[in-house]
Amino acid sequence: MSVLVYTESWGGNFRKSTFEAVSYASETAKILGTNVVALSLEDVSDEELVKLGSYGASKVVSIPSVNKGDSQSASKIIAELSTDASVIVFSGTHTARMITPRLSVKLAAACITNVISLTESSEITIKRKSFSTKAIEIIKSNTEKTILSISPNSFGLIENQMDCLIERSDFIEKGSLIFEGQETASGKISISEAEIVVSAGRGLKGPENWGMIEELADVLGAATACSKPVSDIGWRPHSEHVGQTGKPVTADLYIAIGISGAIQHLAGVNSSKVMVAINTDPEAPFFKAADYGIIGDAFEVVPKLIQEIKKFKN
Ligand SMILES: Cc1cc2nc3c(=O)[nH]c(=O)nc-3n(C[C@H](O)[C@H](O)[C@H](O)COP(=O)(O)OP(=O)(O)OC[C@H]3O[C@@H](n4cnc5c(N)ncnc54)[C@H](O)[C@@H]3O)c2cc1C
Repeated sequence: MSVLVYTESWGGNFRKSTFEAVSYASETAKILGTNVVALSLEDVSDEELVKLGSYGASKVVSIPSVNKGDSQSASKIIAELSTDASVIVFSGTHTARMITPRLSVKLAAACITNVISLTESSEITIKRKSFSTKAIEIIKSNTEKTILSISPNSFGLIENQMDCLIERSDFIEKGSLIFEGQETASGKISISEAEIVVSAGRGLKGPENWGMIEELADVLGAATACSKPVSDIGWRPHSEHVGQTGKPVTADLYIAIGISGAIQHLAGVNSSKVMVAINTDPEAPFFKAADYGIIGDAFEVVPKLIQEIKKFKN
């Protein structure tokens, strides 16, 4: 019984979260004494597919004919290909959230989300985040097959070079959705993939003041994000809204500028490894959650920070 891992690409390149999922699958396979089969349902070159071998996949099955976003077809194909798999690994992305529940029903398999640890033994027992990361649950699977959806950025990349066999299939699945194209926020670092996120809130006073936030993000190679009210009032696009009802952030470094630290905001960002808060109010709740805090005016602190980082980089 192998470990099957679902992969995701963007513009023909695998996402960092996919390499993390393959690394996780590979470590799981070592515990179970088996191998890793990766599945790609997108149009990806052989040169890119073979990169999965660097993280431990010994075989890649490529079926590029599935329409993007068609989770019904994707779950059907994954179910058909997982007859020999005891564990099916996903990175906990938006796509995974669409596919895993359907797959779980098709396979009568336990589905464990927000996974943050490897199984302790061949009996699948793992830790998962729950209650907006306020608690860690220990869950044991009680089914023959188990679907694990790992919390992005919680495991990291582990290189484990394998000779990787590529198997292409021209199987056609006539899905219920037809992908007609996409509009992208070009040139921007995606919040879910970013190692550093610079985020700002209502303390910035108005959209005209975001220049310094973008500049700080630029010098750090970071993604920009914002609190919910900021996107609600149209200062920033909704795609930047982070928190409980927005995008989750699991960055290495999260810098919150002029954000109070309401529970709904923290719920979505507190999986970040290091959090820095910049706020004029020493009583702002964010300071209780942050690893580092600067009590000060963003309009003074941020330009100085940019200047110092530039100096340091030079
Ligand atoms: C069901 C529900 C879901 C929600 N989901 C989310 C969510 O997903 N994400 C989210 O963000 N919110 C969410 N909220 C809203 C949340 O409760 C807060 O209202 C929101 O996070 C506050 O945004 P803020 O920190 O930008 O603004 P404020 O609370 O107004 O805080 C502004 C902060 O800026 C500081 N400040 C002011 N001037 C400066 C300055 N010059 N320099 C530095 N600091 C300064 C102030 O001291 C203050 O702490 C949700 C609320 C509900 C009820």
